[in-house]
Amino acid sequence: MAIYETPILIVGGGGFGLATSIFLSNLGVESLLIERHAKPSPMPKARYLNQRTMEIFRQHGLADSVYGRAVPIRNMSTTRWVTSLGGDGPHDRKMLFEMETFGGGSLWTHYRDNSPCESAIYPQVRLEPLLRDHASDMRTSRMFFSHSLVAIEQHTDGVTARVEDRNTGEMHTVHARYLVAADGGKTVGPMVGAVLEGTPELMDMVTVYFRADLSAYLDNDDSFAYWMANPGGDTGSWSSGVLGKLGPTRFDRHSEEWMFHFSFSSNDPARFEEQSLVPRMRDLMKIPDLEPEVLSIGHWIVQGVLADRYRFGNVFLGGDAAHRHTPTTGLGLNSAIQDAHNLAWKLALVVKGRAGDALLDTYETERRPAAQRNVDWALFTFSNHQLTGAAIGLVPGDAQRSRSNFEALLADTPDGESRRHRFREVMKLHNTEYQANDLEIGVQYESGALVPDGTPQTPRDPTGRRYVPTTRPGARLPHAWLERDGQAVSTHDLVPRDGFVLIAARRGSPWESAAREAAEAFGVRIEVVTVADDATVRDQRHGWRRIREISDDGALLVRPDQIIAWRSIGAHARAADELKAVLRSVLRETEATA
Ligand SMILES: Cc1cc2nc3c(=O)[nH]c(=O)nc-3n(C[C@H](O)[C@H](O)[C@H](O)COP(=O)(O)OP(=O)(O)OC[C@H]3O[C@@H](n4cnc5c(N)ncnc54)[C@H](O)[C@@H]3O)c2cc1C
Repeated sequence: MAIYETPILIVGGGGFGLATSIFLSNLGVESLLIERHAKPSPMPKARYLNQRTMEIFRQHGLADSVYGRAVPIRNMSTTRWVTSLGGDGPHDRKMLFEMETFGGGSLWTHYRDNSPCESAIYPQVRLEPLLRDHASDMRTSRMFFSHSLVAIEQHTDGVTARVEDRNTGEMHTVHARYLVAADGGKTVGPMVGAVLEGTPELMDMVTVYFRADLSAYLDNDDSFAYWMANPGGDTGSWSSGVLGKLGPTRFDRHSEEWMFHFSFSSNDPARFEEQSLVPRMRDLMKIPDLEPEVLSIGHWIVQGVLADRYRFGNVFLGGDAAHRHTPTTGLGLNSAIQDAHNLAWKLALVVKGRAGDALLDTYETERRPAAQRNVDWALFTFSNHQLTGAAIGLVPGDAQRSRSNFEALLADTPDGESRRHRFREVMKLHNTEYQANDLEIGVQYESGALVPDGTPQTPRDPTGRRYVPTTRPGARLPHAWLERDGQAVSTHDLVPRDGFVLIAARRGSPWESAAREAAEAFGVRIEVVTVADDATVRDQRHGWRRIREISDDGALLVRPDQIIAWRSIGAHARAADELKAVLRSVLRETEATA
């Protein structure tokens, strides 16, 4: 039996655990990650990485590796609803609706203005190995695969974990100051008494991950998904299945790999009979001679749940251990990456003795409401699929009426035209699922490691689409392109991943020296950047001036996770005192020199 000591034990090596390990390493903090499986997930699972995730990956040196391998925006810019992919009947191979998605097509102008990053499609089956490679290149992160957590004991100053080496059966002990539960909710949550609240089971789903040449059945290169809008599905309440593009080297209709999600009634034993799944998939897509090479099959449950707490003593829950979403809008892994980003800098400062333990309480204060919003949104957009089903004419439990309504929808009659018009109108509501730019990048924390300035929350678009930049404390730093030494830099590039940035609006502002004084007093890094026409960083296009919401005498303090901690819209009589008070409040710590 071996005994290991580590400041941070990470339990689980999925997207959340691996991201936490990498972010901590980039902040110079050692961690030990244990993962019960030897190999990464064999299922594609999450594949949509939204702009916020890519911004975080950019800050931590991961974005280029993802962009170099991922489905580019032009090949993921739409989704289609089709009656089938194959078949030669009168109702087959018809496209009923096409929608722009995730910043593609005409959406691009809005998305481009709001972020330095494009979104990407890169499935977990490939993201996890990429993250493992990055993490294993770092000296500060140790990873033990085929190791499973079996028990924990909490003390006032840390956690003792019992870990089994699944290859040898040997038991080891790990002493850690903090434990990050990145296990998807299977082990640690129940051990510490976390309760998952919400909707635990909406639907039973099967995913077949396969390799096949589908190019003969597709006539476009830009869709990332095809919904089978026909009455062949099992539940009768929404599309009968959805086909998703996965690459890995061709991203057009010649994509080599695909996944097909479809549902079964929860009491149907056929859902576990592997030999019945491919024939079912052939029926739903209407490709009777499809001979896919099946790479893996996964069963999962559509749910929307949130843990009652995120912190239990020295244990922190994140990712699917803290919140599980329906897959609509693809918020699961994306929320998990934001959890890791939020938690890592706080853990780093506390472990290094630069912040009080109470800073870690703000992880729950900030991330839990954000996850609540995302879980609610995912459930909301999931429920819109029932409208699609109703607009097609599907009647749950009545196959005959579903079929006759479907035929009426496609009939070349005035009634058919009216039904198709209604269908198109209903389908427009689905833009909440695929164009939720504000939901993805417009996070706003109301309280936590920040100092509110008393201004009301910026109203948010109820459709989730239109992001309105704001520098109100708690918001993500808005993006604008600036110029430094002749190079274009984003406002995000001003934020060091291991420190804060004070952004002033004119050279010689008292905030510059105040920030230096406060940094010294608290022993934390605060970069001081002045964005002005006569400064090193210039706002030539005045994009920043339009959205910064401060005067030339004001300033912003931005945290390492690109969230605004504080702002002063104008001058302050005692700038240094003000900034020290801000740091005291954000770090939950008194000055080292006090
Ligand atoms: C079909 C489908 C499509 C999806 N699409 C999207 C999408 O497009 N975008 C998106 O953002 N999200 C999507 N999601 C959600 C996403 O997959 C999850 O939110 C994500 O996997 C959560 O990551 P995680 O690291 O928290 O948990 P997991 O990926 O579940 O990882 C947990 C890890 O912990 C390990 N573990 C468990 N118990 C122990 C233990 N006792 N000891 C050691 N290790 C342990 C497990 O082996 C596992 O590797 C989708 C999910 C599904 C099912």
